[in-house]
Amino acid sequence: MTHPLLDLPPLTAARFAEIERRVAALLSTEQDVVITQGEALLPLEGCIRSGARAGSTALNVVTGPYGQTFGNWLRDCGAHVVDLEVPFHTAVTAEQIERALAEHPETDFVSLVHAEAATGNTNPVAEIGEVVRAHGALFYLDAVASVGAEPVLPDAWGVDMCIIGAQKAMGGPAGVSAVSVSARAWERFAANPAAPRRSYLSLLDWKERWIDGGRPALLHAPAQLEMLALEACLERIEAEGLDALMGRHASAAAATRAGALALGGGLEPYVYEAAEAAPVATTLRAPAGTDASELVAKALAADPSVPLAAGGGALAGEMIRVNHYGVDATPEMARRSLAALGAALRDSGAVVDLAAAERAVTEAPR
Ligand SMILES: *Cc1c(COP(=O)(O)O)cnc(C)c1O
Repeated sequence: MTHPLLDLPPLTAARFAEIERRVAALLSTEQDVVITQGEALLPLEGCIRSGARAGSTALNVVTGPYGQTFGNWLRDCGAHVVDLEVPFHTAVTAEQIERALAEHPETDFVSLVHAEAATGNTNPVAEIGEVVRAHGALFYLDAVASVGAEPVLPDAWGVDMCIIGAQKAMGGPAGVSAVSVSARAWERFAANPAAPRRSYLSLLDWKERWIDGGRPALLHAPAQLEMLALEACLERIEAEGLDALMGRHASAAAATRAGALALGGGLEPYVYEAAEAAPVATTLRAPAGTDASELVAKALAADPSVPLAAGGGALAGEMIRVNHYGVDATPEMARRSLAALGAALRDSGAVVDLAAAERAVTEAPR
């Protein structure tokens, strides 16, 4: 018996290369794009282990939990790590980065998360890129949570390693990811004796055995179903238009923020400034005296289809995440999420204005 997921013909090198070309187009980049055969942690770790080395000084910007993970990898590579931590309810500024680079002129690697779904903030990468380029350090950017939700422009911004995944705003699979690598970054990788080679973490293997030869043959059997899903995801984005997709995320975020403020009951946006709030997901602060995970559980019991989650780890008690990404990036999903949250808050004794929240969602800019 045939099955739609089984007995597929092998994915050809030509088709694989074509999917890479479409990812490059999505990022408006002329840099080499490698589609990495694993979740985004694979290229995130691979780039750090390739680009940072003993003797490096890395400026690691921490605006959420991913920045903490990158700092640990950088230290593990023997780099001297300068952590620039900013409160999770805000964004880092280019001035802060400029000051940190002036204090540590030996810095040769800067790591930054563009937007963090886990904290709901987004950072001004264009401005930061100018500062990093002027200094000359390699610029590493985690754009997993921003791609598809807001512009990601590695060439225009001077990003040397731009890592994306399809599972957030792109509405695609989680099992493959991609990275665009600048010529400068390839040189640094090649000059690093500790850069992974003959390893699943190796980007140089893909450069030497895939890209340099004109993409003749794949290094190993690719994650075929994930590649087909990524191809379908890119086709869907091309059909909708990247601008329209980003517009849906901006509308969903604006509606969620406005609706949460109008709902009242002590619910507040977690990220204070709207301009620093990521379009991919809106984080909210649970009212004082309430537990975010309990509220989310109650809201999900009332409407299991809304994309609500409590914050991870230490944030579980105070943070509510509205993950309005991919197909959920609509004002209608914002309305339903707030209706479910509002009902849960009311059930917990809070005074909320569900009608005002609904109005605010309707009137939010589209
Ligand atoms: C979601 C996300 C990733 C990928 O992590 P998953 O837990 O696998 O979804 C990486 N970086 C950032 C900033 C993210 O928001």
